[in-house]
Amino acid sequence: MRSAGPAVLLAMLTILALAGCLATRGSDDPESGAFPPALRPLALPLHHLAIATGNYLNTDQQLDRRLFSGKAPAGPASSDLRITWYGHATARIEIAGLSVLTDPVLDTPVDLASPLPHAFHKPLLSESSLPRIDAVLISHGDYDHLHMPSLRAIARRFPQATIILPEGLGHYGREAGFTRVGALELGQNAMLGSLAVTALPAIHATKRNLLGIPDGKAFSWEIRSRDRRVLFIGDTGYGSVFTEIGRQRGPYDLVLVPIGASEPDYLVREEHASPEEAVRIAEDLRARHAIGIHWGSFALAPETRSGPARRFVAAGRDRIDALVLPLGRPTAID
Ligand SMILES: [Zn+2]
Repeated sequence: MRSAGPAVLLAMLTILALAGCLATRGSDDPESGAFPPALRPLALPLHHLAIATGNYLNTDQQLDRRLFSGKAPAGPASSDLRITWYGHATARIEIAGLSVLTDPVLDTPVDLASPLPHAFHKPLLSESSLPRIDAVLISHGDYDHLHMPSLRAIARRFPQATIILPEGLGHYGREAGFTRVGALELGQNAMLGSLAVTALPAIHATKRNLLGIPDGKAFSWEIRSRDRRVLFIGDTGYGSVFTEIGRQRGPYDLVLVPIGASEPDYLVREEHASPEEAVRIAEDLRARHAIGIHWGSFALAPETRSGPARRFVAAGRDRIDALVLPLGRPTAID
């Protein structure tokens, strides 16, 4: 029995190597990310193992800069709505004079209690380079969205900042050092100065454990000023709930919508919308502009680094203003 451990591990690694080779051919073809049918019963654990071991870094890591040459929704510099994307689901939304940071992942020392997936690039922000932050919004508790060292850094720099999380996750805000913590139920809202922040549905769950077992909620956050409406969706699958939100609460000036980590499609489609579905979400919400997030930072799927963005921009052509932003560049929204 004593020799069974290494043998099983070796077998797993062999299967992983085989599956990984087949799973990371590096094409943008949605079909290319599938594990071969014979391995499908093992596909979910293999997928998690591939993320944990960095196997999905074996794709084309080039950032396709042509993606950023499209027409930006360049509003005037004086616009009361500006977005800066820092990678993955981290974005700074400047609206009505306030600065709101979503799902922050900063450059921090490694913390084994908040493990991050293998990354294509170093996080842009650090504690010392943070711009002013008035509030932090957390979509859900997955490690790549609720990153404790990043939250601690923000609470140290901006002790007056407010953090808003889904109900059940509030203790993370307090443990990070925030004194203004809002843990909202679905449909509840909180006022941030003149901004109303409302918890709306997302088709996703928190899985804050290494086994991938659902153990908390996931929401979208609507940020509404007197004359602007923005929806931040950190992670979601596709569903009719967005038509309902669009009908009841739209139209939106802007939606930040996740477009990556949607492969292998048959395995993760219930909680990760494809880039094409992300365009449908923006249409359903009646959004004027849609910015694709949750791509190009972490190796979470058998897809190339730029693949989700290429597919999103292509799917949006002639339908909606679907765009991706270069890292770290503030963009005014008209
Ligand atoms: Zn995610």
